[in-house]
Order: sequence, then structure tokens, then C-alpha cells
Amino acid sequence: MTRKALLIVDLLNDFMPGGALPVPDGDAVIKPTNKIIDQCEDKEDWIIILAVDWHPEDSKHFDKWPIHCVRNTPGAKFHPDLNVPSDAVIIYKGLNPSEDGYSAFDGIAWNGFELNDILNIFSIGEVFVCGVATEVCVKLTAIDAIKKYKTFLLLDACRALTPEGGRKAVKEMEDAGVIIMTTEEVMKIKI
Ligand SMILES: [Zn+2]
Repeated sequence: MTRKALLIVDLLNDFMPGGALPVPDGDAVIKPTNKIIDQCEDKEDWIIILAVDWHPEDSKHFDKWPIHCVRNTPGAKFHPDLNVPSDAVIIYKGLNPSEDGYSAFDGIAWNGFELNDILNIFSIGEVFVCGVATEVCVKLTAIDAIKKYKTFLLLDACRALTPEGGRKAVKEMEDAGVIIMTTEEVMKIKI
């Protein structure tokens, strides 16, 4: 049995319309994401992982980006409509003031485990990535994932900062070997 991870990136208030660093139409991914969470939840061959931007106030990251997702602020909380399973693994990234923490593979869980440790412990072979923004944290996460795991991008559950940036990022991920699918296709074929 190939065990699988659903890896959801940055569905946080500051990346949603009205937030500090909004991704246009970002909240449109909540519905398909909830649908696939609902399908994966309680399946023994799936784990659900959510990556969270969790910056300190004095992060150097804010030289490049508007201040967003400062730890323990409302902007760093999940979108209120996202169904976060109680047993989901949360990966915190961008913890260090000198790091950007774009990729979920640069983050750690509450117990200090890195994402690769967790994927090893659960014997994960396939990783399904979705979230925002396509051309930043989603892309860098998927490009890290493909180094070790069969990796899929759930295109309908991603949104980009710009259409052009999104298209280019999808092409780069495809060129790196990431398989592009939709949540509907994954729910039909893989769950
Ligand atoms: Zn950030």
C-alpha cells in the first residue's frame, strides 16, 4: 500500500482577500480543499498536513513582503471555513527571523520534527500539494517534495498572486516531474 499525504499550504487569513498579503480569489480553494479533506480523513492510507506561515515580528522576510502571518495574530490563523481535522499535522515555517520559510519542507512540527521526518514515519510515498500562493510557497513545497516523493499538484485547490506567475509556476513544477491533477480526479482515482 502506498501511503499518501495531503499537504495544504498557507490557507491563512492574511493570504485571503482582505488580508495583509491577499491572493486574489484565494478563498475559492476552501471548498475543494474541504471536500478532499472530508474524503481523506480517517482513511488509514492518508495523512493530512497543513503548512502555516508563522513569522516573528522582526522577520527579515518583511523586507521583501508586506508584514503578514505574524505568529499568534489573527492573520496567521486558518481561514474560518477550513475544516482542520483534529489529528492533522501542522508544520510551522518561517520561524527564524532570518529565513523566508517558503517551502513546507523548511518548517517543523510542534515536536521539532521536520516534514521529511514525518513523511518517513508514516511511510509516505505520494504527496498531494495544494494551497496558496501557487508561484511562491506551493511551488517551492512541490519542488522539494518531488526530490523524494511522487508528487501531485491539485490545481483547482491552488490560487496564484498573478495569472502569469501561476502559469509559469505550474510549468516549472511540471518540468520538475510534478503531476498536475484536480481534487475531483484524485478523489475518483486515489481515495
Ligand atoms: Zn511569509
